[in-house]
Amino acid sequence: SGPAGMQAALSLKRQGLDVSLYERDNKPGGLLNVAANPPYKHRIRSLRDFLVRQLNKNGIHIALNRNFELKDLQHGHPDYLIIATGCKPITPKIPGYNPHHCLDLLPVLEGKINIHGKEVIIIGGGDNGCEVADYLLTKNNRVTIVESSLTLAPSMEKKNRRALLNRLKNKGASLRVGCTATRIGANEVEIITNKNDFQKLTADYIVQAIGFQPNNELYFEIKGHHPHVTLIGDAFGTKGIASALLQGEVVGYMISDMEKLKG
Ligand SMILES: Cc1cc2nc3c(=O)[nH]c(=O)nc-3n(C[C@H](O)[C@H](O)[C@H](O)COP(=O)(O)OP(=O)(O)OC[C@H]3O[C@@H](n4cnc5c(N)ncnc54)[C@H](O)[C@@H]3O)c2cc1C
Repeated sequence: SGPAGMQAALSLKRQGLDVSLYERDNKPGGLLNVAANPPYKHRIRSLRDFLVRQLNKNGIHIALNRNFELKDLQHGHPDYLIIATGCKPITPKIPGYNPHHCLDLLPVLEGKINIHGKEVIIIGGGDNGCEVADYLLTKNNRVTIVESSLTLAPSMEKKNRRALLNRLKNKGASLRVGCTATRIGANEVEIITNKNDFQKLTADYIVQAIGFQPNNELYFEIKGHHPHVTLIGDAFGTKGIASALLQGEVVGYMISDMEKLKG
């Protein structure tokens, strides 16, 4: 029940159809719960709260702590199935990578791993990497971002990007653009600069922020067992909240039209 699943449920209900919503976590909202945590992103929490209120108002129950699996198909016998299972972090193919030495950004932003007053290297300076840096700087950490390209947070909206990069610079973040991580060890990262210089950086924590990929295994597992399965949101392609909401809304209309055609 991220934004894609929640919006799909609302759209289907508006078309007069019955909906069941499953969430494996203990709270609704999916990645909205994490995306809202870096500085200046609190409005994403308001969006999550709005969607949850709309679900409640429309009498749509979210079954929390329910990991939907292939075997669940036998119980509910749904006419249509929408898979909105979100995305998962890409595993870095950097020599020496080991999840014990190098954390994913989600547990860091969720506060499951509390990093305070430490030296942190972030591998990947895309939107997410820069936002984790922004978040960690509010907790008195010293942060280094290692990014292969020369541009940080390239897909972020212009004004937000300028404000974010100014905050990172003003708080003393070390922005190592044009630098590629070539090896990760316990508390150290080897990099090569675009001038072919090898350097070794050390830190208390290493966080990887190289990106996300669709979490679509359930879709491919279920597809052959049900005639009407649709994949939406980040599980289809990691394109952000607006795209997830749009796909959720549209799938409700599509299913309603198919029902009307049945007569
Ligand atoms: C740090 C960060 C910042 C971001 N900031 C922005 C931003 O500013 N703007 C923007 O547009 N986008 C942003 N995004 C991306 C945005 O959060 C996602 O694109 C959006 O949440 C995708 O929605 P979704 O519903 O497809 O997936 P998700 O929000 O990931 O929701 C999927 C849900 O499915 C559940 N699930 C998975 N498998 C199962 C199963 N088998 N059974 C039951 N439940 C299951 C998961 O627990 C999850 O709750 C950000 C992402 C991150 C990580």
